[in-house]
Amino acid sequence: MGASVPVVERAAQGAKVNAVLDFLRRSPMKLLIGGEWVAAKSGKTFETINPANEEVLALVAEGDKADVDEAVKAARRAYEEGRWPILTPHQRGRFLLRLAELIDQHADELAELESLDNGKPVSQARSIDVVGAAGIFRYFAGWTSKLYGETNPSEPGMFNCTLREPVGVCGLIIPWNFPLMMAVTKLAPALACGNTVILKPAEQTPLTAIRLGELIQEAGIPAGVVNIVTGFGPGAGSSIAEHPGIDKVAFTGSTEVGKLILQASAGNLKRVSLELGGKSPNIIFPDADLATAVRSAMNGVFYNAGQVCAAGTRVFVQREIYDNFVADLTAAGERMITGDPLDPKTKLGPLVSREQFERVQGYLAAGKQEGARITLGGEAVGGKGYYIKPTIFADVNNHMKIAREEIFGPVAAAIPFKDEEDAVFQGNDSIYGLASAVWTRDIRRAHRIARALKAGTVWVNCYGTTDTAMPFGGYKQSGFGREGSRYVLDLFTQIKSVYVKL
Ligand code: ADP
Repeated sequence: MGASVPVVERAAQGAKVNAVLDFLRRSPMKLLIGGEWVAAKSGKTFETINPANEEVLALVAEGDKADVDEAVKAARRAYEEGRWPILTPHQRGRFLLRLAELIDQHADELAELESLDNGKPVSQARSIDVVGAAGIFRYFAGWTSKLYGETNPSEPGMFNCTLREPVGVCGLIIPWNFPLMMAVTKLAPALACGNTVILKPAEQTPLTAIRLGELIQEAGIPAGVVNIVTGFGPGAGSSIAEHPGIDKVAFTGSTEVGKLILQASAGNLKRVSLELGGKSPNIIFPDADLATAVRSAMNGVFYNAGQVCAAGTRVFVQREIYDNFVADLTAAGERMITGDPLDPKTKLGPLVSREQFERVQGYLAAGKQEGARITLGGEAVGGKGYYIKPTIFADVNNHMKIAREEIFGPVAAAIPFKDEEDAVFQGNDSIYGLASAVWTRDIRRAHRIARALKAGTVWVNCYGTTDTAMPFGGYKQSGFGREGSRYVLDLFTQIKSVYVKL
């Protein structure tokens, strides 16, 4: 791929944390396999780009099937030789707590690295992604000692019980929108339950996962328990999905790739959990606290430049307040500070990659062509970097492409509705069912709608709030399996029935 040697000073211009520059100077980055950092067997590397200035931040090993094979061997060895699953639950918990501490200690560095690689505002990377990652390790450290089996009702001559055991070797394939937090969302429960893993970060944003790999070693987690194979979807990702030596795949990404993963997993019937796309409805009634609803709707769709699977991209507003609400939302969007992600005041950074930048512009063109009315933005910022202006399309019809397909950019579709029934009907009229929200002061209506919406999450008078102690996942084509909370433990364990004759 004609990779040139990156000029770190140029690529990471504006970086303040020396440790980030030191890390980037270690380019080309390697794969973590069996406790060793190694080049890809093919010797190939790929570039990871700073989306704010389009400069090459680092070269990264391009792992492929041969490297996944090695990683699976290392993970299998660590699993079967008991370096991880037979530690006492308390010991495993202490490793996870240590990792949380290391993330806290390196918080500024990780936040800046995430911001450089992904384009998200550094202030948000610091307060959401990094704080979230440490919190998730802490939450699951507590679960290590609470993975109970059951003593079952038995006839007098028997003692029957169940054991909750790890699944084995798990492949974790993650996207680029919350790189560190997605890695930890899967790693923490997988490790807490005693599995060993192969983590594949997204090719657009591999850097914080690699740095996390170093911290995993520093925490003293045994070699081979966590293996990290960077590379592309077709290649590293597909090799994980189809590998006969992998027992489970946990995937977060597009619905399209989720379907490929499910097909590829059939070979050895590996367990699969999928957290996929969304086109979430945010439903606003006139009796809501409208000032808060406006602010929240804006953040719900523009946060992380709209690159959020649960983004509230379809803003449904009851007809009698529709024009005023759209005007207020537009005014709020105008005030959103767009620009350099390393500037602490920035709220909206660039999109992650040129590919995404071009995709989103395609949707802007489609919205205009279908006759939606632009009240804000509607175009790229221009100049260096993959910046798109926050965009609001008004007078959208729920059948338009911009209301049906996941855009993954800062683009809102404001859609009027007639009454409660119409709001629920239109809200549910989507192939997706990841998240949803309703704004009203009528508690009966709030509960009715929370039950009626076909989505894995319903927010009432708020948007985007998450808590590791709550399950997260999709209805319909937004996937299956729930992450976070005790439900994710079912994905990373299996139950064994033991009959003892007395
Ligand atoms: P997006 O469309 O948001 O980029 P993807 O679903 O393409 O998201 O990617 C999410 C993750 O899935 C990334 O780590 C990517 O490399 C990986 N991936 C892409 N294609 C495949 C595939 N065919 N098999 C396995 N993993 C894949």
